[in-house]
Amino acid sequence: MPAAARNILIAGGGTTGLMAATLLSQAWPDRHIVLVEKSKKLGGLLRSFDYGENGRFDCGAHNFQETLIPELDHLFLSLLPPEQWHVMGGREREIAGHYYQGTLRHNTPFVDLRGLPESLYKDCVQDFFWNLSQQNAGSTEQVHQGAYAFCHQHYGPVITEAVIQPILFKLFGKEIQSLHKLPLMFLHLNRVAFLDESLVSDLTNSQQLRSRIAFSDQRDLPLERSAGKRNFYPKKPGMQQLIDAFEARLRHRNVTILTEATISELQQNDGRIASVTINRAEHEPLRLSVEQVIWTAGIHPLTLTLGLQDPADCFDPPLQTAFVHLQLDEMIQASDLYYIYPFDSQFLTYRVVNYANFCPQAAQGPSYPVTLELFLPPHQVWEKEALCQRGIEELRMMGLISESTGIRFSAAEITTEGFPMPTLKNIELTRTRRERIQNKALKNLTLLGILAEDELLFHKDVNVHAFQQLKLLIAKSLPAVLQESTPCLPVLP
Ligand SMILES: Cc1cc2nc3c(=O)[nH]c(=O)nc-3n(C[C@H](O)[C@H](O)[C@H](O)COP(=O)(O)OP(=O)(O)OC[C@H]3O[C@@H](n4cnc5c(N)ncnc54)[C@H](O)[C@@H]3O)c2cc1C
Repeated sequence: MPAAARNILIAGGGTTGLMAATLLSQAWPDRHIVLVEKSKKLGGLLRSFDYGENGRFDCGAHNFQETLIPELDHLFLSLLPPEQWHVMGGREREIAGHYYQGTLRHNTPFVDLRGLPESLYKDCVQDFFWNLSQQNAGSTEQVHQGAYAFCHQHYGPVITEAVIQPILFKLFGKEIQSLHKLPLMFLHLNRVAFLDESLVSDLTNSQQLRSRIAFSDQRDLPLERSAGKRNFYPKKPGMQQLIDAFEARLRHRNVTILTEATISELQQNDGRIASVTINRAEHEPLRLSVEQVIWTAGIHPLTLTLGLQDPADCFDPPLQTAFVHLQLDEMIQASDLYYIYPFDSQFLTYRVVNYANFCPQAAQGPSYPVTLELFLPPHQVWEKEALCQRGIEELRMMGLISESTGIRFSAAEITTEGFPMPTLKNIELTRTRRERIQNKALKNLTLLGILAEDELLFHKDVNVHAFQQLKLLIAKSLPAVLQESTPCLPVLP
């Protein structure tokens, strides 16, 4: 490997790192790109679990959502030939349901209050509109970070305390007052359903109400009111196909890919990272001088590598995210649902992924793949076999399978690198660490990926942010005369 100063180091081989390597190897063919990934395999949270003849499963629900930035969409969609993509758009867009108060609901992923006891339902509705009437119509709403304050403003105290609080407690084992609002969007808790369709259609002409009330049946939502973006999933199961295609593309461009490798030191000189030390099992540490460092491997590993941790940085321990992968001898009883969000307290599962409804090959049988995503309390020890049994039992409790459904294959995987524990304290500490990194003002460091900015978590948002930052970096490296003629970046959708 050349040790010349024209090395570009990319830390992290998830989709952000792979996208960075693709864009930079294209823009800077004279530079040597080195991508360093800690795990054995590339892909990060978009990798798949490959069980050979028992099939490929994803780390839960993942697909590619178009961004309407043509170059970015092309970068991902050109990874597979067009005929290998299954396109979900219009009426065929993502359809999700939920399980609440002992009932599986197919109409919406947002919690439906109509299953509540009548007196509580009335209290919720009354308090919702009372709360709304107390807000100064037309004034700009305050932006709250905390889940409690956000829900209070959004729904009023009754829905917050009787509906949202117990759901968040079952998911994270924390009181709502200690949580950030981030998981509300992730878990479809930022709207509630409680009205029949004719009323919802009228009321949701108001922007204020539309951001709070879910359409009573997602299938009837007028298309002009939907986000209008299509989602793409390979016709064969496994997002890994994208990762494999990225890897082949990068190897073809002579990008050096080091897996099972970490960066132990970033040596600094004159406000820049001058060189890095890369550690690999069974290899001597490698010291590489660098021109640019693109960090996509998370704020916390970077804080440690730069020695910016403080003994007072005391995080709430991370959740364990578990995946239970099953091959069933029949489809789950979920009609056209792609995903199901169980909200009742007896479930460890927070999402069920029904591949057969968005992946044509998975729908052909003879086995039907399903993934359950579960949050396990920090430090709780689970045998994988017991976790599989638990997942199967939860599917039965929701009525998604019956006693006679055959389980052809089961496997469980547990990781602490899944969803961050979304407490206000953790998010605030992450921000503090990010500021410490930014205060170092290292001229050749670019920070991308999850939480590189506040509330950056969803794949499409992470992609758009990374793409725009990389384009800026590339534009800055152009001679001044070319910079002036560089076209403006597309506006964020
Ligand atoms: C449980 C879960 C469910 C999700 N579901 C959805 C969803 O439904 N929809 C959606 O849009 N988004 C979802 N997301 C978010 C989505 O997964 C991320 O936005 C996306 O994966 C970000 O990609 P990334 O490359 O930035 O990060 P990652 O995929 O996390 O990749 C980072 C890579 O860096 C590597 N790494 C870490 N430390 C080091 C180190 N020191 N040195 C070298 N490499 C290192 C890791 O091994 C990893 O490969 C979910 C996330 C989680 C955790």
